[in-house]
Amino acid sequence: MSDFLYEMVIVGAGPAGISLAAEAVHAGVDKSRIIIYEKAETHSWSIRKFYPENKLVTANYKGSNAECKGISCLLDSTKAETLSYLDKMIIDNQLTVKYNQQVLEIKKLKNNYFRVKTGVEEVYTKTIAIAIGVLGKPNKPDYPIPTEVRAKTHFDVTSAEFKNSEVLVVGGGDSASEYCQFLMQEGNRVHLSYRQNEFKKMNDINLQSLLAMEERKQVSIHRSTNVEGLSLDGEKVLVKFKEGSSVLVDRIIYALGGTSPTNFLESLNIKMTKEGPSVSDFFESSEEGIFLVGDISAGKKGGSINVAFNSSHEAMKQFCKSYLHCKNASYN
Ligand SMILES: Cc1cc2nc3c(=O)[nH]c(=O)nc-3n(C[C@H](O)[C@H](O)[C@H](O)COP(=O)(O)OP(=O)(O)OC[C@H]3O[C@@H](n4cnc5c(N)ncnc54)[C@H](O)[C@@H]3O)c2cc1C
Repeated sequence: MSDFLYEMVIVGAGPAGISLAAEAVHAGVDKSRIIIYEKAETHSWSIRKFYPENKLVTANYKGSNAECKGISCLLDSTKAETLSYLDKMIIDNQLTVKYNQQVLEIKKLKNNYFRVKTGVEEVYTKTIAIAIGVLGKPNKPDYPIPTEVRAKTHFDVTSAEFKNSEVLVVGGGDSASEYCQFLMQEGNRVHLSYRQNEFKKMNDINLQSLLAMEERKQVSIHRSTNVEGLSLDGEKVLVKFKEGSSVLVDRIIYALGGTSPTNFLESLNIKMTKEGPSVSDFFESSEEGIFLVGDISAGKKGGSINVAFNSSHEAMKQFCKSYLHCKNASYN
């Protein structure tokens, strides 16, 4: 069994999971006893999938505090630089990441160890960190999407080729603005439908970029509109708004945010509040030995990469104080 016995199992290889494993190595935990499971074929799946290629990755995303507490820190970067930074963290710290392995079940045993099952293997561990983010399941609209238009509706900009078409983005946050900028750069005619009149959820850069696009007539913003329903009109999708107007487009992208993968946490008996899962100041959940780092515990205000890095640092100190033998005294 000792071959399958770990000090720490981390679920999810995004910024939170990778930085936590790096913190653990830095704290002096034996790196061969730390394992990260990632359900995708590569790390940082959410960044690869949801960020437009030419996005500026900002250190103080959504006004979050960019001050770094631990060993990892992101400066304003390109998407490629951000991914390289995370690649380097995995290589430099010789982290073991098992790809294409979704964690399906975690069970606490009588001896306080956890048994973790993926679709492929079963291991045992003293502690667990859940770092699965909130983007795995994007929010869906509350009206039905007719079967015949499903192939023309999307929840990100990478699941289809968007070039020289007419595209409607639905949403009003940073992702909505970034999708508009990306679509415009790819030569599409862009529409944006937002249910409010003012964009209060966007950071300044995204708001200014969107308004500049509107001024240059590169985006038609349909303010205070609520989609009533979609139907196929020839090759196009007819989008009717409750307010009476409509728009005819080739494709629709929903940017309605993500939700916490509640079912996964509930299966672990983790207490939930209106704000999301309940965690201590050191990111330990209501279940002793299970920590929630990164977006999953960032609450309604949402997370960022540096916020995820900082949560890993704080959590690591608590892992060392309460559960693990950490050779680096600064963590104890
Ligand atoms: C469009 C967009 C733009 C953004 N721009 C910025 C920005 O400019 N600057 C910034 O700081 N932040 C930005 N963010 C936010 C930032 O991406 C997140 O805060 C950050 O990625 C959170 O990291 P995480 O590790 O908690 O989660 P994620 O990055 O979501 O990583 C979670 C990982 O867990 C894996 N996973 C999920 N379930 C399982 C499972 N059961 N088993 C195994 N693996 C699993 C996923 O495949 C994924 O790789 C942006 C987000 C979006 C959507």
